[in-house]
Amino acid sequence: MKKVIIIGAGLGGLCTAILLAHAGYHVEVFEKNDTPGGKLFTLEQAGYRFTYGPSTLTMPEIYQELLCAVDESPTVLPYRQLNLNHRDVFADGMTLEAKPDVAWMYEQLMAFHADDAMNFAPYLSHVQRIEHKARTEFFSRDFTKLNDFIDPNVLMAMAQVSPFTSMHDFHARYFQDPRIQMTLDRFATYVGSDPRKTPATLAMIGALEYGQGVFRLEGGSQILVDTLMRIAKKKGVTFHFGARVDQLLSQNKEIIGIEIADTKYPADAVIFNGDRTLWRNLLVPKNQRTTPKPMLSSIPRSFSGFVLLLGVRKRYAILDHHTVFFPSDYTGEFTAIFQENALPKDPTIYISYSGFHEKTDAPDGGSNLFVLVNVPAKKRPKEEWQAYEDHILDLLMQRCGLTDLREHLEVIVRFTPDDLEQRTGAFEGSIYGRVSHGYHAFLRPGLQTSQFRNLFFVGGSNHPGGGTPMVALGARLVANLVQKRMD
Ligand SMILES: Cc1cc2nc3c(=O)[nH]c(=O)nc-3n(C[C@H](O)[C@H](O)[C@H](O)COP(=O)(O)OP(=O)(O)OC[C@H]3O[C@@H](n4cnc5c(N)ncnc54)[C@H](O)[C@@H]3O)c2cc1C
Repeated sequence: MKKVIIIGAGLGGLCTAILLAHAGYHVEVFEKNDTPGGKLFTLEQAGYRFTYGPSTLTMPEIYQELLCAVDESPTVLPYRQLNLNHRDVFADGMTLEAKPDVAWMYEQLMAFHADDAMNFAPYLSHVQRIEHKARTEFFSRDFTKLNDFIDPNVLMAMAQVSPFTSMHDFHARYFQDPRIQMTLDRFATYVGSDPRKTPATLAMIGALEYGQGVFRLEGGSQILVDTLMRIAKKKGVTFHFGARVDQLLSQNKEIIGIEIADTKYPADAVIFNGDRTLWRNLLVPKNQRTTPKPMLSSIPRSFSGFVLLLGVRKRYAILDHHTVFFPSDYTGEFTAIFQENALPKDPTIYISYSGFHEKTDAPDGGSNLFVLVNVPAKKRPKEEWQAYEDHILDLLMQRCGLTDLREHLEVIVRFTPDDLEQRTGAFEGSIYGRVSHGYHAFLRPGLQTSQFRNLFFVGGSNHPGGGTPMVALGARLVANLVQKRMD
């Protein structure tokens, strides 16, 4: 039986482990943390339960299809569609409630601009066409052969997905009201990027949200990790936790195994689920490694997140499951992040309140709030983070209408880019690896390099991209590729 080692038990690593174990490989997963899930994990404190990481779930069919492919029932993942995708609150107090319903959106947009309301249906058709092209021609290919790039279908698809137009300009063609533009431009932040530099190709996220809707998992997003773990173990995958892989062992053009604290583990193939920008470090023996920073700092990275987990002994009527509070100057946020490398002074504040549906996530009458602000991927001194925490709490009270928040606060946990790097190895806390700017942005780093025949990459910093469904799609591509190369 051929042996595959997977470095990292993030969602991509777990999905790949299941697929390969099902295909008959001996699979061992080495994870540096004591628990699986990577960027998705749960924390409980004083009766409040918080899930860090993915909260906006789309494309449930990707995991359901993956489960069917390994002879498991798709019902083990209880996806439920949300009534509202999200409630957006603008600086002038106007609100927009987003739903996958053209008539509803027409009514909503009429309150902003009549032409924008009329343009919603044609906009949706356009992004659905882009999404269809991307799904059939980009997400289904591993792009490891030159033929993939010069395939006439791919070239034709490229011409049809507007890679040379920015996402913002694309939205501005359909919608005049700057608030509606903000709502849609925010999709660029799903890949940690600036809507003025992200290609319109990624406007296809609108097709997912307004065509299919936004979902939650009953019991919380953690169910995803727990379910994948259960199935992986059932399929015979072996897990090693608290096992940081120090080195990839190579011979000629082959990876022959890994090393952890002077112990060598041989393998026929190795799959790296960590941050793609860091893999080369693992080729260098640990004692000869210099700090990776100078070289890596020059790679433009997607942004990070500043997160506050708040347990509040109060419920706020303004908050739905997902609520977004926009500032008056949305562009200023991206200028701060990407040009000034500074913490945005007046950022968009996103709040995920899973207790809206999951009543056991907070004590009676309380709310568990996951507050996320986009910030540059960069380490900072503790005092700077403390000051930013105070600033965000002030904004929540003054700008977001949670006026008595501090009075009712029972739990506050801060999670910075530094913490994200420490937990998941994401360089400087960048959530999605390389930033998605420029016409070529939708072509992420490939699933292999030309250097090694039996080394593969899976996870959010690789093709086809980040986010829960994308890493599962990547896992399917990688699992197929491993089988092609190894059999
Ligand atoms: C704040 C935040 C909010 C998000 N919101 C959403 C959302 O709403 N919707 C959505 O779909 N997605 C969201 N995402 C993105 C989503 O969480 C990620 O794209 C996805 O979980 C990444 O999975 P991955 O397979 O890349 O692995 P990761 O989660 O990156 O895990 C990689 C694993 O590899 C391990 N590892 C790395 N190096 C080594 C080593 N040398 N040895 C051993 N182990 C190693 C790490 O410890 C880690 O466990 C969010 C992410 C964050 C951080």
